[in-house]
Amino acid sequence: MNVTYQSTRGSESGITASQAILKGLASDGGLFVPDHFPKLDKTVEELIPMNYREVAYEVMKLFLTDFTAKELKDCISKAYDKKFDTDEIVPIHRALTGYYMELYHGPTLAFKDMALTMLPHLMTTAAKKNHDDKEIVILTATSGDTGKAALAGFADVPGTKICVFYPKKGVSPFQELQMVTQKGKNVKVVGINGNFDDAQTGVKQIFTDEALRAEMAKKGMQFSSANSINIGRLVPQIVYYVWAYTRLVKEDIIRNGEEINFSVPTGNFGDILAGYYAKQLGVPIRHLICASNINNVLTDFFETGIYDKNREFFVTQSPSMDIVVSSNLERLIYHISGGDAQLTADLMERLRVRGSYEISAEMRDKLTDFIAGYADEGQTAREMRALFYDGNYLIDPHTAVASGVWEYYREKKNDWTRTVVVSTASPFKFAWTVLAALGKDPDAPGIDLEKELSELSGLPIPKQVLEVRKAPVLHNEICNRDRLSMELEVRSFLGM
Ligand SMILES: *Cc1c(COP(=O)(O)O)cnc(C)c1O
Repeated sequence: MNVTYQSTRGSESGITASQAILKGLASDGGLFVPDHFPKLDKTVEELIPMNYREVAYEVMKLFLTDFTAKELKDCISKAYDKKFDTDEIVPIHRALTGYYMELYHGPTLAFKDMALTMLPHLMTTAAKKNHDDKEIVILTATSGDTGKAALAGFADVPGTKICVFYPKKGVSPFQELQMVTQKGKNVKVVGINGNFDDAQTGVKQIFTDEALRAEMAKKGMQFSSANSINIGRLVPQIVYYVWAYTRLVKEDIIRNGEEINFSVPTGNFGDILAGYYAKQLGVPIRHLICASNINNVLTDFFETGIYDKNREFFVTQSPSMDIVVSSNLERLIYHISGGDAQLTADLMERLRVRGSYEISAEMRDKLTDFIAGYADEGQTAREMRALFYDGNYLIDPHTAVASGVWEYYREKKNDWTRTVVVSTASPFKFAWTVLAALGKDPDAPGIDLEKELSELSGLPIPKQVLEVRKAPVLHNEICNRDRLSMELEVRSFLGM
């Protein structure tokens, strides 16, 4: 049965998967959701002998029903290839009592690669299917990780161009180096004299400028968005939940049919929502543990049914989870309301106007799949330390949040269900923080952070890090934070 997509706020329905991927966001500002949840049509026994690409096909075909088998397989094999530093694509590592699903073996060493290596191929295929021959122009503002993953994903993909704006002083030195060394004939990277909000605001204004869009259309170009609300980013993320389950059965760690938990370090709620979709497919998942850092707006939401973004914002060791509005939560709200688009639109309007909303007791009753908790900065550091010294395993601060929250919950509830901790970044991406947590002095004079971490752990420095360190700087544009300066950068890039 075909799956079509509709807006969480009701304006659009009956949209094909390929159209939803091209549009990104519905015209009423809502997010595209499937009209029903398909079920896996392969058994665990059938999935066990398959490699990651084959499992990806079996999962993605259920949601992207208007893609042909050949189109989908092409996208998958272009995404999950030698760019990953392991043939397994997603290895699962046992340490102490947990299983760590490593989603960081792609080109930028973080989990965003799982979807952003795939999205450009889904988009160009979707454009072809819809007889849309306009060139796709991706415009992104980034606070660090997403920008690099999007650049790496779209670089030299025919039929696309990508322009990324980042706050010149708002990303880590390594993140900046990752972006300004990006190769590719179709990429542009610009630092702005402003913060992430300035970059985001400018991009939104340029993106929604009707006159500019019309001018671009005349030149055979159109804007599209690579941010995490695109259904083309969500679907590839469902795959690894299915994958992890089949690997645990294969290794005799669980019986087929036995329930497991996943603990997920959460920011925008995209990763954990993909876990929820995997459960709807039929994967035996007991609890999805929604783990936050001290920006714990989601912990409060699951505890009280009130989402309130009026709160202090903290900069933490796990920056990719420093968020007060988790945009993908809107999809969950829609599902637990029984598909009530009017109600979802009302709640989102309340969030916009008042900064908060409350869900009904009936809706709260449907949240039993989730457990929520948060780890403060001290717990996060202690978790990295404990895993390293007691479990001989190095984890990054985001993964440590998920691991710490799970541990706390396990002891408190005495729930010894086998648990997979979703591991979202390489520790080498956060070498300073990890070394500090392990009791070393990352500010010691002359220290080479990655070399120090490598010697301490016995792990090689990932080749992705070494490549960036020796790559030439290719981008040095800087612009002011006003919209006009940013638009001029975009225009010069597009030859307009
Ligand atoms: C983006 C990101 C997260 C959060 O994922 P969401 O889908 O936004 O919840 C966690 N860890 C790392 C390293 C990330 O880059």
